[in-house]
Amino acid sequence: MVAWRISGTIDVKDRFTRFRYDIGLCDPDSAAGSVSGSQRPKPVGGVPMRVLVRLREDERQPRGDDAGEDGRAYIDGHWLQARTETREDGGFDVTYDDVAAAQRVRIDILLVDGDLAVLHPTGPIQDLDYHWLTVFEDPSPTEERTRSLPLLRFGDSSARALSAKAMSTLNDGDNVVRALLWFATRTLMRRLRQEGQWLVFKKRVYVMYPAKTSSWAEVVGRRQVHINGEEPDGLMIVVLFHELMHIWQYDHSIGVGNWLSAFVSCRFGISRDTRDRQERNVIAFHEGFAEFAAWELWHELFGMEKVLPYRRAGLRQRESLTTFHEAQQNWLAVFSGLLCLSTPDLFRFRFGRSDETVTSAFFEHHVTRVSGRQPACPAPPGLSIWQLLRVFRGKPDTFFPKDWNVGNADNGFATFLSRVSVLTDRLDADTRNLIFDLIDPASTREPTSLCLGRLRDTDP
Ligand SMILES: [Zn+2]
Repeated sequence: MVAWRISGTIDVKDRFTRFRYDIGLCDPDSAAGSVSGSQRPKPVGGVPMRVLVRLREDERQPRGDDAGEDGRAYIDGHWLQARTETREDGGFDVTYDDVAAAQRVRIDILLVDGDLAVLHPTGPIQDLDYHWLTVFEDPSPTEERTRSLPLLRFGDSSARALSAKAMSTLNDGDNVVRALLWFATRTLMRRLRQEGQWLVFKKRVYVMYPAKTSSWAEVVGRRQVHINGEEPDGLMIVVLFHELMHIWQYDHSIGVGNWLSAFVSCRFGISRDTRDRQERNVIAFHEGFAEFAAWELWHELFGMEKVLPYRRAGLRQRESLTTFHEAQQNWLAVFSGLLCLSTPDLFRFRFGRSDETVTSAFFEHHVTRVSGRQPACPAPPGLSIWQLLRVFRGKPDTFFPKDWNVGNADNGFATFLSRVSVLTDRLDADTRNLIFDLIDPASTREPTSLCLGRLRDTDP
């Protein structure tokens, strides 16, 4: 008896190098043309997918009234099958023994492993078998026992060697998005594991697409995120990371807030569903941190540009804030304050006054770099997202022995910054107070106030 051996590769068309163009962070022409070397986008190929592969060979039993597409008759029934998982490069080999002289091979894949499931929300979540996708099938039986299948790529309509059914599966718009969501989430999960075992998600996460309404994270079971996907690709990944970081925060915090169940829709949920003013610090932090982490992860994992903090007038234009008290209860101000912790050259930026005139243009809302001689400034905190994620973890024998507590209504931005000071050694009291001032609409203080000598302010 000779073994059958089937090999192939599964990937998804690379839409990640296009992300930055989608939200206008850079000019696609300049990136494709004049930018040299490693910054030039790679030719569009595929990003590998590590997925579960199922090989099925249908047992052929003639049945006169049910002709198959090759003119022969088949019924589904007993399936011979072998399973494997693709390697990190997307490649797979399946070997199995069978006595049949000719086989009609079918390849199914499932976007599920122990850490993650990416599913269609209409399917039953308990019955994962429902979610297999057929990405290859022979039109008729073959006797070729060593097979190398054509590339199976989601989102690439050029693979003419495939059957019509496999082609429609691989090119179905929703399947392509699910493949992208799978790749992006697995990229995040792999990196979290590399950065430290404490950082990983505690149980399997379910990413559901497409959401019937706007994107949201489930708060009762705390395992599902639903992605709407109406955004362009790049922003969709930011939305995905935002929702995943709600789950991550649940996983890495203690305590339960009543507000969690009221937290239905991101951002809007704060003002629409949650009335208790006393709890706003912890809610605004939860939301602001999800947004902060989403953009930082997008930058860290896919090399996109780093987002800068808001200038005071930008915050006022967006959120009409007037005091620090209000800022701490506002997710966008918290988002901006957290960005101050990660901005590597914080002391070179001007935050301005809140009553300055700004238009509604996105970039006018963010801080601008001031030119001039570099004065002697302290080292900015310059914390990475990985360092800041660890701030959720308590440390024995410090002022913060316990993990972050979402059940404490006072646990807002100020508390988190105190934890950063104690748990990282990267934020001194002067810089911490400066960052409070930088999101305070009433303040006019600039980062250079902590420097010896001043930058020449050339901003009009
Ligand atoms: Zn949210």
